[in-house]
Amino acid sequence: MTSTLTGAPVSPGRVAGVVVTMPPPVPEPPTTRLPADDVEDAVERLGAAARAVQERLTEQAGRLSGTAADVLAVTAAMAADPTLAAESERRIRDDALTPERAVWDAAGGLATQLEKLGPPLSERARDVRDVRDRIVAELTGARPPGVPEPGHPFVLVAEDLAPADTATLDPETVLGIVTSEGGPTSHTAILARSLGIPAVVAVTGADALTDGETVLVDGGAGSVVRNPDPEAVAAASHREAARRFHGPGRTADGVHVQLLANVADPDGARVAAEAGAEGVGLFRTEFCFLGRAAEPSVAEQVSAYRRVLAAFAGRRVVVRTLDAGADKPMGFVTADDEPNPALGVRGLRTAVGHADVLDRQLEAIAEAAAAEEAEVWVMAPMVATSEEARDFVAACAKHGLEQAGVMVEVPAAALRSRWIFGHAAFGSLGTNDLIQYTMAADRMLGELAALSTAWQPAVLDLVRATCEGAAVHGRPVGVCGEAAADPALAPVLVGLGVTSLSMTPRALGDVAAVLAATTSGECAELARIACAQPDAETARAVVRGRLQPLLDELAL
Ligand code: PEP
Ligand code: MG
Repeated sequence: MTSTLTGAPVSPGRVAGVVVTMPPPVPEPPTTRLPADDVEDAVERLGAAARAVQERLTEQAGRLSGTAADVLAVTAAMAADPTLAAESERRIRDDALTPERAVWDAAGGLATQLEKLGPPLSERARDVRDVRDRIVAELTGARPPGVPEPGHPFVLVAEDLAPADTATLDPETVLGIVTSEGGPTSHTAILARSLGIPAVVAVTGADALTDGETVLVDGGAGSVVRNPDPEAVAAASHREAARRFHGPGRTADGVHVQLLANVADPDGARVAAEAGAEGVGLFRTEFCFLGRAAEPSVAEQVSAYRRVLAAFAGRRVVVRTLDAGADKPMGFVTADDEPNPALGVRGLRTAVGHADVLDRQLEAIAEAAAAEEAEVWVMAPMVATSEEARDFVAACAKHGLEQAGVMVEVPAAALRSRWIFGHAAFGSLGTNDLIQYTMAADRMLGELAALSTAWQPAVLDLVRATCEGAAVHGRPVGVCGEAAADPALAPVLVGLGVTSLSMTPRALGDVAAVLAATTSGECAELARIACAQPDAETARAVVRGRLQPLLDELAL
């Protein structure tokens, strides 16, 4: 019988597939003593298990690329670590422990020592525990940790995903993601969007989903249908094929609206390029820094940036400088004791105390840009004043980065747009934060979802104000917040004066289809109508009503 579970929609797209659940944590082995005769055999079994884990991870890393390959290669090397092997063996010989208990204790001791050393070595503690679990699983027959590899495409069901798990997700085989925990802006949600994998998080009843059952995941509606009827499954596959984007983005009367992608890492850039994105409107560089206690070196940054730029030779890539703070704390620039981090020293504000970090990042961006063919633009997050814009543009110019712009995500910047664009070469509306600060509604709180929408007329007014101020200086303004991926809102944003929309690659086809059927005059009219409404719900309903035949035709 068909039944539907609901959760928070975080990455659009409708897919059907077979459920594969994340394995539960590897259980701690009991402290069992071995008979003296079994010691040699135990040492041998330990060595064989460690080798098997190392070989499997190396082989897996060889099939992946970018961050995923790096993460697995580090874990593979750790499996062959001589200290871990020697410590485990000593515990088998001296304490007559089983090999699984010996490696458990040895790795635990090693991880604790690393943690005491502080960053960057303490970051390795997680890898040690990961490799410990893999060796124990190999010895005991338990399911190994990490994203399963069943050998066929599947819908991944988990409580939540750790950053290391998300780094190894292969969008070719993971059709969709369903989690029982997590919020709309969780790490899982952002990565799913950047890889274009439909995802629903905080799904009530997700724990009951079992391996092998078929589900239909609707990442736009936030639903997971168990036992879907075969027509719905066929329609989902058909729609996936139909929604492909064949750029460039244009209105019905031929006005070019650049349709760009938001990316976080080289894998995401590859997915975006394959989806036909005209360029990258937001490269969130902080995702190359996530989980790092120390600032990555310039060389490491250059290498990560180059891999993203390489996917877009000849096309524009807007690189955003480090957006640390609030939901993305980074110990080397942000404090962990701010009473209100969303209003704290975050984004460009961290450059006041850490001008050197910004300077090294700009150096790395300039070096990567010089080595690749992409057209590189740079922008700063969380700009609030024209002085900040001026100083950032000057800092970029020192590195020869001429196309320097700002994100408009603080209401003050929108209201003083005319002054900001006296300095900035372009603007990009970060509607996720612009909504949060305009409506005074924490973007992480599901309870405030009704307030947290770009359909709020107050937010639309600020979008218009930004575009009008920028037009005084002939500067282009795009949108790179999640609002750009709403196909019904896209023509409204264009009508307000926005000239590019940057979104998760999967949304490109839908947004392009709506724009292609709407003239620029109609966009202006929809914008006027939306701003004239008393509240967000009415604005959305009235605009969707106007577009209804088209939205029905496109099943949006
Ligand atoms: C935004 O605020 O809309 C934005 C694009 O930036 P982030 O979501 O990374 O804060
Ligand atoms: Mg933001």
